[in-house]
Amino acid sequence: MLRWLLTALALTLGAQLAAQDKRIALTFDDTPRHAGVLYSEDERAIRIIAALSEAEVEQAAFFLNPGKLAERPGGEARIAAYVAAGHVIANHTSNHSQLRDTDASDYIADIDAAAKWLDVRKGARAWFRFPYLDEGGRDKAKRDAIRAALAERGLINGYVTVDASDWFYDGALSTATRAGKPVDLEALKALFIESHIEAVRYYDALAQRALGRSPAHVLLLHESDLVALALPDLVAALRADGWTIITADDAYADALTDERPDVPFSQGTITEMIAWERGLPAPRWYARNDTKLAQAEFDARAIGKASSAIPARYLGVWDYEGGTCAPESDLRMAIRPRAITFYESVGKATDVRLDGEDVIVDLAMDGEGETWEQSLRLSLVGNGNEQRLHTSDASEPKTKDDLPRKRCQ
Ligand SMILES: [Zn+2]
Repeated sequence: MLRWLLTALALTLGAQLAAQDKRIALTFDDTPRHAGVLYSEDERAIRIIAALSEAEVEQAAFFLNPGKLAERPGGEARIAAYVAAGHVIANHTSNHSQLRDTDASDYIADIDAAAKWLDVRKGARAWFRFPYLDEGGRDKAKRDAIRAALAERGLINGYVTVDASDWFYDGALSTATRAGKPVDLEALKALFIESHIEAVRYYDALAQRALGRSPAHVLLLHESDLVALALPDLVAALRADGWTIITADDAYADALTDERPDVPFSQGTITEMIAWERGLPAPRWYARNDTKLAQAEFDARAIGKASSAIPARYLGVWDYEGGTCAPESDLRMAIRPRAITFYESVGKATDVRLDGEDVIVDLAMDGEGETWEQSLRLSLVGNGNEQRLHTSDASEPKTKDDLPRKRCQ
């Protein structure tokens, strides 16, 4: 009986400790980051601040490149807004130098330039995050020169323990959108969150094997549109997986800050470097950090699912030059993401393909008691008020539309 009680007690305590140990802080790199395709830079910052506040994330860290402020108007005000909301800021070099391409002395000068900007700001912390998580690669002399320079300056390594290549999905979203490929944002968000939860679990298991404990984790994110979009659901998913969101201050109080892993190639999460140093076999990184795999997931899930949506630039009501735009106008077309309504028929989009600048929509038509299949080519010509929508039968060679349509107001 006593033995059973002790076992039960040990299990309970163990479970409690495990629960307490699942701690993670959120960090955002590259502020002021370039614009994305969903929001203005101001709107993005407002969304990030609101998401953190609504999720009751007390303190996140933003790793800054002050040298980029000149080319990103409003950047200083956005940084001040992050700090006013309780978050902290730290050094990511002034101009986002990559150590492998930079002399140690130039790199240190770039650290100092960022430190000079940060030193007089509220919310600054003495943390340095290596751009590209590149700590010198194979060049141990350079690695040690930077480690010594950081120590001299009282800066600690603002390492990450968890990386799911968040930047990659935001880039894929921008590339697809600019190429006119419709992206299913809900599917992309689900992929993004799934990847991050998988990565957190992966790196925590790796850390437990390498360190014999679950450290206070640090998640790498960037100041991107996709992060702004996914943040509320990401925080909720982390909590549902048993994680407590801790402050960056608490995370960098972990004994991990004393680690100086000596590995043949110094780049990436501190988790994988320690695992390598302690002899754990490869792979020591989350699988989808291979961006070929991540791209395949993106294409299959975020693009594939969107294939029946007509791109936003075609959406709206169109009528021929002399048309009234009223529903009884016989050449009027109303284009919605998954359907086109004509005068006396409606077509449900069953497939949408890009063909150069044009889009080809397969329609399952229904009108006047009949159903039929139709394939329609949509082309936009001109800009602004002069823009016209040309349509033609996509099963025939491309022809000129003699009655192009104007956009109705
Ligand atoms: Zn960066």
